[in-house]
Amino acid sequence: MRKTIKKHRKEIISAVVTGTIALGGGAYISNKIEPSAVYAMASATNRETDIVIRVGEYLGKPGKRIYCDNINWNRIPKDLPIRQDEDGRHYIAEFDINNKIATRLHARLEEKGANVKIIRSSSKATDLNAAGRASNKFNPYVYFSVHTNYFDRADASGYFMMHNAGDKEAQIVAQRLSDSIKNNSMIKQAETVAQNGYIGELNVIHDSTTGVLFEGGFYSGTEGNGDLYHIVSDEYSDYIADKLSDELIKIVNEKKYN
Ligand SMILES: [Zn+2]
Repeated sequence: MRKTIKKHRKEIISAVVTGTIALGGGAYISNKIEPSAVYAMASATNRETDIVIRVGEYLGKPGKRIYCDNINWNRIPKDLPIRQDEDGRHYIAEFDINNKIATRLHARLEEKGANVKIIRSSSKATDLNAAGRASNKFNPYVYFSVHTNYFDRADASGYFMMHNAGDKEAQIVAQRLSDSIKNNSMIKQAETVAQNGYIGELNVIHDSTTGVLFEGGFYSGTEGNGDLYHIVSDEYSDYIADKLSDELIKIVNEKKYN
């Protein structure tokens, strides 16, 4: 916590200068609060954005699509675009799946009173690291990147959260978020993953933001009752939007008043 306080000292000072924080006015300071606690709360009041959600990938990103003649199209909801490439082959883009989940999560968070920004990349130029840098302009408490996974086996299955190795706070947050949706009856929970080599978009985020990357399941899971059919469903996206929004709000509130 002390480390975080140090980092925010500059913004606290500017907040005091601009008069948004009434130091000594009694509203934020009681005799029982140590000075460090006042700093933490002051910096918290200075942020306009609670959470940034990033829609993973951009439309048309090479390789981020599932071509499959064996897809059961009856199980793909109407709101999910079925796209066609130059050769007339049909596919579903990872971007569209991520966008459905992220858009519902965004809506739930706003309904529950959070200030949320959503980042959708339009091309390679605004992908990955650029999305992380865009998030820094909002200085949110949490950066949550929504992805779905691909593996060269139709039976690959499971959702998980990722964080940068060595980021203890992100590890705890990732685990809490993962646990918050583990009782869904559609996609099983896999182990939370620490990434040693750093995850591009999480690597550029300021220390004042906790970054987590969500892999909601395998869109390559087309076999039988595979992940794909759950990931695209209203049931799954509504369930995780509801549970994740509750947990994200708890996490942000703790960061604000800790
Ligand atoms: Zn992805």
